[in-house]
Amino acid sequence: MASEVKIECPKCGWEPDGGAYWQCTCGHVWDTFTTAARCPKCNIQHERTSCIPWRGGCTAFEPHIDWYKGLDEWVREQIESVNQQIEQPVTET
Ligand SMILES: [Zn+2]
Ligand SMILES: [Zn+2]
Repeated sequence: MASEVKIECPKCGWEPDGGAYWQCTCGHVWDTFTTAARCPKCNIQHERTSCIPWRGGCTAFEPHIDWYKGLDEWVREQIESVNQQIEQPVTET
């Protein structure tokens, strides 16, 4: 597993401080990083996450996955290992 995954705004580097700053379209307010951007009330999966300007962030509205620093490398390793398995020569009959 990844050891150096860090969460920060992909635009300004603001790090979420654990506060409940995100509001779903259903009205629920929570810390979106505790649920990977899924609303715990209505179960909608939010693809994008906004930065929080009044807590020191900016006005970015970026894909949730982009907030995870260090995750890309781990994902790439996983994809490469899968590709290596796929690239095994297939014996034809
Ligand atoms: Zn909701
Ligand atoms: Zn930001």
